[in-house]
Amino acid sequence: MDCIFCEIVNGEIPSYTLYEDDIVKVFLDIDPKTNGDTLIIPKKHFVNINDIDLNTLNHINSITKKMYALLKEKLNCEGLTIIQNNDYGQEVKHFHVHLTPRYQGDILNHTYNKEALQNIELVYKTLKSE
Ligand code: 5GP
Ligand code: ZN
Repeated sequence: MDCIFCEIVNGEIPSYTLYEDDIVKVFLDIDPKTNGDTLIIPKKHFVNINDIDLNTLNHINSITKKMYALLKEKLNCEGLTIIQNNDYGQEVKHFHVHLTPRYQGDILNHTYNKEALQNIELVYKTLKSE
């Protein structure tokens, strides 16, 4: 399979690795939005939130919490924005979580159009009928 993040896991592409265990790898984003922009990925290939299993996701969440505290303390940032893109807006089709340190005055551009809310009632009704 042609996947950049699988190649990083296999050591075929170098990465600035901060942490790894049997399940995850944590490394710096090659194109940082701010200083210390970090990615957490499962070592096993999952495309997105739809196909990753809950055990792996829970482990990623626990590492996310750990990395949050560590990055905030050591980088002296104000906080971190945590993002996980699925399908649209997802450049690399291997599940990953972005941990982007935030600094006073920085600007992260997440533009969206503010048209009227549509179809969200369908989500509510589906959940209610379950
Ligand atoms: P996405 O847009 O899929 O949510 O984010 C993918 C991220 O992976 C981007 O922020 C991009 O800079 C990063 N990225 C893409 N290729 C590489 C690479 O070869 N090495 C590293 N470290 N990051 C990469
Ligand atoms: Zn992969």
